[in-house]
Amino acid sequence: MSRKKIIAANWKMYKTPEQARQFMEEFVPLAAGHTRDEIVICPPFVDIAVVAEKASGTAIEVGAQNLYWEKEGAFTAEISAEMLTGAGCKWVILGHSERRQYFGETDDTVNRRLKVACEAGLAPIVCVGEVKEEREAGITEDVLRRQCARAFAGISARKAAKMAIAYEPVWAIGTGLTATPEMAAQAHALIRQEAASAFGDDYAKQLRILYGGSVKPENARDLLSQTEIDGALVGGASLKPDSFTKIVKW
Ligand code: PEP
Repeated sequence: MSRKKIIAANWKMYKTPEQARQFMEEFVPLAAGHTRDEIVICPPFVDIAVVAEKASGTAIEVGAQNLYWEKEGAFTAEISAEMLTGAGCKWVILGHSERRQYFGETDDTVNRRLKVACEAGLAPIVCVGEVKEEREAGITEDVLRRQCARAFAGISARKAAKMAIAYEPVWAIGTGLTATPEMAAQAHALIRQEAASAFGDDYAKQLRILYGGSVKPENARDLLSQTEIDGALVGGASLKPDSFTKIVKW
């Protein structure tokens, strides 16, 4: 089964609205007419409006980097799923390792956010991945299985229809180190097995599993030409229109 690849930018905490506007003014013409892959940009919350406005009428889609699971209320500084859809987001990144590492995100909070994202019709990109010590200890497989099983708990295949997974080995994020295409393909196959046991074989066959971790123009083709790799989640190299375009056009 052929799965359309997704090239997603995670801008993390970079770019003011003005810088986001400048990026889009350069990037939109560069990406015009590119339909082979789905292009998603996930800026900081305050940039969503300007990115959505500049992406309107193009094939570029917009995502957020997180959401909170309550609908509304006294939750200072949090953002709900409905706020994101209302602002023009189709996608949301969940469980990024930086959220897990610095902001107390756990497998269970990822699961709560995922349920709400699915309910709201957003397409979640759920991030999983092992830290260096876990890889060295030979427990990568257990870590990935646990992260997937807990994230998927209590969610039906129908509700999770738009979900994608990003396999991001934490030791490869922002470090310049990348998993070899073979390492990534192995992890992706395992994640697909977990998806099959949670949601069934048909679901697993169409699930898109992205790779993330120091993807750049120089290594994009090696990674993205693997049939098990259904796209890339790109941090650092997504911040400049020319390098992101080179990745999009791998
Ligand atoms: C990320 O933030 O998801 C990421 C993969 O970052 P980088 O591409 O900079 O390693």
